[in-house]
Amino acid sequence: MSEGAGKKEEKPRKFQAIRGTRDLLPPETLLWNRVEQTAHEVFGTFGYGEIRVPIFEPTELFARAVGGETDIVSKEMYTFSNPKSLPAMVREGRTEGTLAEMLPEAEMISLRPEATASVCRAYIEHNMQQQPQPVKLYYMGPMFRRERPQKGRYRQFYQIGAEVLGGSDAPAIDAEVIEMVMTFFGRLELQGVQLDINSIGDRNCRPKYVELLRAELLKVKDKLGPDSQRRIETNPLRVLDSKLESEQAIIAKLPHIADHLCEECAAHYAAVKHQLEMRGVIYRENWRLVRGLDYYMRTTFEITAQGLGSQNAVCGGGRYDGLVELLGGPPTKGIGFAIGEDRLILSLQESTSSLSASGKGAVATGRDVYIAWMGERAHATAIRAAKDLRKAGFSVELPPVEQKFGKALGQADKLGAKYALILGDNEVSEGLWTLKTLADGSQAKLTEPDLLNFLKREKAKADPSLRSG
Ligand code: AMP
Repeated sequence: MSEGAGKKEEKPRKFQAIRGTRDLLPPETLLWNRVEQTAHEVFGTFGYGEIRVPIFEPTELFARAVGGETDIVSKEMYTFSNPKSLPAMVREGRTEGTLAEMLPEAEMISLRPEATASVCRAYIEHNMQQQPQPVKLYYMGPMFRRERPQKGRYRQFYQIGAEVLGGSDAPAIDAEVIEMVMTFFGRLELQGVQLDINSIGDRNCRPKYVELLRAELLKVKDKLGPDSQRRIETNPLRVLDSKLESEQAIIAKLPHIADHLCEECAAHYAAVKHQLEMRGVIYRENWRLVRGLDYYMRTTFEITAQGLGSQNAVCGGGRYDGLVELLGGPPTKGIGFAIGEDRLILSLQESTSSLSASGKGAVATGRDVYIAWMGERAHATAIRAAKDLRKAGFSVELPPVEQKFGKALGQADKLGAKYALILGDNEVSEGLWTLKTLADGSQAKLTEPDLLNFLKREKAKADPSLRSG
């Protein structure tokens, strides 16, 4: 009798993706690929190179770069210990040791909640300051934050971002970075795009403004909610972020940072705006747009798009001249942004014009040709035909087992195939293949080279960009 016999049979557990994570499925992934391909192309035309950084790093890196007191680091990171490996201990001459003994020496590591810290770490680690400056890098990939999931907010989400490190802090750099994101969004035909910009000063002028803000906030403290009350002490700038309805009228009366910038910062901000205008980039000034972290300075920007509800920010960015130094590198200018790819895709899906855009991709999910074959000889021919058609760039479905033509044609219809190539013994011996256009049911008998030419011509008609000459 086998071990399990007699026990009540247990149903195997059905697994589901963890809360806040999700599967991206075809045909939606076509749109993801199109977005990413467009990013490669547009960023490439601005002279950026792609960097791929690890998914996990020492927790300390994020604590230092993002800030230990931020929500991201204090509450939202996926952190675990990475015990020293046995081989490493053996190399150090310690041949005995249990996991429990090793744990105290474990390094804490975290799944990356963002990538700017890693890019700066890589800049330092690979001595990129010795390359021609500035170094322009972009990245794309998953980020992880244990936030409360909702529409447009996930625990594994995707960002496409870029960083410009080194060289000067010329306002034209800030403007070109913003121009690049706007060009990217324009290429994708993202709808309802709104760019907000601000300057948050630097180490000279911001602390004075923050003190002024704190003093003003203290005067109205009892009219504020508990979060804002706490932030008066911890980070008064963050009060400006508040979305609480009851606080809006109070916040509207607070002093604006633009009136308290030092001369250099005011000049830099004015020049960034001028540079944006020279590039035809339309912006709105938003004095409440702040970044709570110390190393952020001067230019900050945020881009929103339509169809996203409360989570409508698709891109956030800003200048962070102090960050590389904070991570142990040389004093280095820096500016960058991160686009929320999930939200970008959501917005593209919601807008009608992009339905045709994603439809353009969706064409590729439907097969071009379904090969209905019957008989051994026909199978061999079908395999060869599939190979040739795929080589020519057509999407081909070749059924693995023989089926009656009627059933095969039904299957071709279900898969959204444009053509059915019918290969039976007759076709193979005559050398004339039957091509059925599924939209209108018309049929033609063609030799193999004629068939390929016919399909190529039809494809070019459907997509003029493929037409040669
Ligand atoms: P941040 O790194 O916080 O400045 O975020 C940059 C962009 O990433 C935001 O504007 C969002 O579009 C996106 N983003 C941030 N957190 C999430 C999340 N939990 N889920 C989806 N997108 C996010």
